[in-house]
Amino acid sequence: MEQRISGHTGLLALIGSPVGHSGSPAMYNYSFERLGLDYAYVAFDIQVEEVKAALDAMKLFRMRGMNVTMPCKMEAAKHVDELSPAARIIGAVNTIVNDDGRLIGHITDGEGFVNNLRDHGIEVKGKKLTVAGGGGAATAIQVQCALDGAREISIFNIKDDFFPRTLETAEKIRAEVPDITVNVYDIADTDKMTEEIQSSDIFVNATIVGMKPMDGESVVKDLSAFRPGLVVADVVYNPEETRLLREAKEAGCICIGGKGMLLWQGVAAFRLYTGQDMPVEEVKERYF
Ligand code: NAD
Repeated sequence: MEQRISGHTGLLALIGSPVGHSGSPAMYNYSFERLGLDYAYVAFDIQVEEVKAALDAMKLFRMRGMNVTMPCKMEAAKHVDELSPAARIIGAVNTIVNDDGRLIGHITDGEGFVNNLRDHGIEVKGKKLTVAGGGGAATAIQVQCALDGAREISIFNIKDDFFPRTLETAEKIRAEVPDITVNVYDIADTDKMTEEIQSSDIFVNATIVGMKPMDGESVVKDLSAFRPGLVVADVVYNPEETRLLREAKEAGCICIGGKGMLLWQGVAAFRLYTGQDMPVEEVKERYF
């Protein structure tokens, strides 16, 4: 440590709450050391009302960048100087790059999702997806898949506070990508969800269902929705195998867990900070 950190070392950080469990400091610091980059990465527990002060401090300390996690992603988008196209549509950021005092906000969750599929040999271009969820992760996935050429996206959400946001996301996608078909449905309509999954190439759970305390539950209630060869992806990464993935696997689906998305959103952020590729295979082996 005393050899790595000097008076010149640049700082990066994760902000959000909680952050103590995060694997990001280990993943980034290992990669900096491996590539000989003079940066250090730490985590700060920051509440939503502290986000603006954190971004001011980022400028003051001339930090190279920050990753932003729940619950601060939408608040951070309000205080950066510029947004990437995806971050503008989504209204949230998970990566902020400090370019000589100008803060540029990006969201790499969607790119992480798409690249994780690619890592498993699956492309979204020309495909129909059904996505459960309308929160941060779901919106990032829906927008990125639309920008990357998906043919059709059917979105299902419960009639909670996220439902109106889901309708807005569909509108924004239609405005940005006129050729795509996007529809929003109530997740309580099980028959419709079964029908949409059956006619899809890829099904994604991007809700909190499957994660503790809902780890015994799945958003897919009618297992006839599954068929061999259907791609089923879950954003939940803890537990690694959710009930959704277990049941989909039993039905012969191609199953993809949320851990890879976590890795690939970090890979995309690393490139934005450093212009270099994270040693992905080594990081995967050590931390995933
Ligand atoms: P969020 O709070 O923004 O959204 C929560 C979503 O879950 C909403 O669509 C909400 O309507 C839905 N939901 C809540 N209760 C539900 C229920 N009982 N039935 C059906 N739907 C319900 O959260 P988020 O930031 O989008 O995170 C969602 C999940 O994605 C979390 O498990 C998070 O850990 C995971 N995530 C994973 C990655 C990754 O890289 N793998 C990245 C971001 C988020």
